[in-house]
Amino acid sequence: MKKYLVFILIFSPFFLFASEKENFNLSYELINFSSSTVSQGEVLVIKVEGDLKKITLQSKSLKIKAQNLNFFKLKDKFFAILGVSVKNKPGKYELNFYFKNGKVIKKSFEIIEKEFPVTELKVTPALEKKGIVPSTIVKTIFYVNLAIKEVIENGSRNIFFDYKFFYPLEKIEVVGAFGNIRKNNNVGARHLGVDLKADMGTNIYAINNGIVRMVEDLPIYGKTVIIDHGGRIFSFYLHLEEFYVKEGQFIERGKIIGKTGNTGYSLAPHLHFSVNVNGVSVDPLKFIETINKEINF
Ligand SMILES: [Zn+2]
Repeated sequence: MKKYLVFILIFSPFFLFASEKENFNLSYELINFSSSTVSQGEVLVIKVEGDLKKITLQSKSLKIKAQNLNFFKLKDKFFAILGVSVKNKPGKYELNFYFKNGKVIKKSFEIIEKEFPVTELKVTPALEKKGIVPSTIVKTIFYVNLAIKEVIENGSRNIFFDYKFFYPLEKIEVVGAFGNIRKNNNVGARHLGVDLKADMGTNIYAINNGIVRMVEDLPIYGKTVIIDHGGRIFSFYLHLEEFYVKEGQFIERGKIIGKTGNTGYSLAPHLHFSVNVNGVSVDPLKFIETINKEINF
């Protein structure tokens, strides 16, 4: 019972409305989850199929009571991506799909605990010279994230993509894992993206179509680009050397958005790459893998 209470606080139920006039044949198979289990920091893809003409839609997306799940239509199916936070408690969760005719379809899934290593939050003498020390890193991240939260909350609900997601670099080699906890004495920060190996000046590609929402030289994050892909999906590219895009611009999948660098809190040139879904930071590489597999573009 307690677990369901936790669920309501974290996810809240959402609602699907079928027309009352139609004798709509609702079945359990209509709603599919990409998996019955999902690890902390990963995504669950919810797919709704069937004769969608018989479902009365309140808007372009299905009516959702809770704002943290957003359905989008693609290839005559409806999809929602549930981002599981690194902080969501492991255990069984139940989602209730409420239809207008009174029918409720309940589907459960399980969040699996994932181990996130604790690593050192390092600073170099060069960074110290610029005033970048562990305590200021943690404090500054807090304020920068407040500004980013505003960008995320004003994102487009309609999706801008209709094809699979690309990777941001030609070669993907992880040098900093997603979710690890970086500590230095009594201060720490959670690494909610992946660090990808890249020499200075490597081309960075937009992982999909979207609107560029932020192009800014931020403290700690350095030169940052945020792309809104719609459907409450955002990608982030940090520590850039050069920008090739402008705020408000529509960018196509695979187009160069800038060059990798070493700006902000960065020990060596690399690309920090993050994905946020419905306000939740998820493992960006797992996100690409799962969405490309499940949506079957
Ligand atoms: Zn990073």
